[in-house]
Amino acid sequence: MAHGTRNTTAIVLTQLEHTGIIGCGEASLPPYHGETQESVKAFLSKLELEQFEDPLQTGKILSYVDKIEKGNNAAKASIDIALHDLVGKILRKPCYELFGIKNPEKKLSSYTIAIDELKNLPRKIKEAKDFKILKIKLGTTDDEKIVHIVKNECNKPLYADANQGWKDKIMALEMLHMLKENGFEVVEQPMPVNCADDDMMWLKEKSPLPLLADESVKRFYDIEKAKDLFHGINIKLMKSTGMAEAHKMIFRARELNMKIMLGCMTETSCAILAASHLSSFADYVDLDGSFLISNNPFKNPELIDGCIIPSEKPGIGLES
Ligand code: MG
Repeated sequence: MAHGTRNTTAIVLTQLEHTGIIGCGEASLPPYHGETQESVKAFLSKLELEQFEDPLQTGKILSYVDKIEKGNNAAKASIDIALHDLVGKILRKPCYELFGIKNPEKKLSSYTIAIDELKNLPRKIKEAKDFKILKIKLGTTDDEKIVHIVKNECNKPLYADANQGWKDKIMALEMLHMLKENGFEVVEQPMPVNCADDDMMWLKEKSPLPLLADESVKRFYDIEKAKDLFHGINIKLMKSTGMAEAHKMIFRARELNMKIMLGCMTETSCAILAASHLSSFADYVDLDGSFLISNNPFKNPELIDGCIIPSEKPGIGLES
């Protein structure tokens, strides 16, 4: 196999080639995660994938990639996604079948309303008309005002993401009760990653809503600690190093009776389609990334009645 890359503003697109068949992957690089196009390219340049003659040895290949260097989760995800796309195309199966799913469930995806000036929120909520669930970014000093505006503008099911913004557990609990009263269903990352474990344990015990770890859980080995602090986890391919580890995380979280959100960064259709093949396993699907960016070079995933439908085409089903 050989690999090459192509850039747009905040992503690196990866290709794996085997006997003329090409698999496509993506590293999406939000600045706060510390990876850059340069770091991804530097990581990819260290890979000697030519040593693997059979792309179907995915476990062996991905374990090799993981051991090249610590971190680089998005770079690793780009190889994982390209490899699953390639294997799906070789076997002529959509990726969900590689994970044992025959008929993917239709799952509603939420659409994120980012933090913005309050006057812009009604317009943003209207723009989300094709989605049936909204995920509201909170963690500001205006949270109650934001919730008030959202409730005035729509009566859709609501998720909240506090993005580590509530620094005090008492205040966080008050906010959770306010969100519960306003019909919210779930809250992501209420407190900072580095807050005291005792505070998160206290909040988890008293919370009227399920709490999901986002920044607190990146990879498989982060789940064990999170089980005492959160009711569930938000799994994203760019954190988990791709589909294979995301799938392992789903099963571990299930064993621990934890809820699962399948989320994303701002990503093109490539990584969003990849994640969509795992959406049958999730309690909450938040795969709006490609709908939020202007430099998506691909056709958007199919959105029917607010559900992101995984493609039935071989691989991830990416179309330009
Ligand atoms: Mg989040």
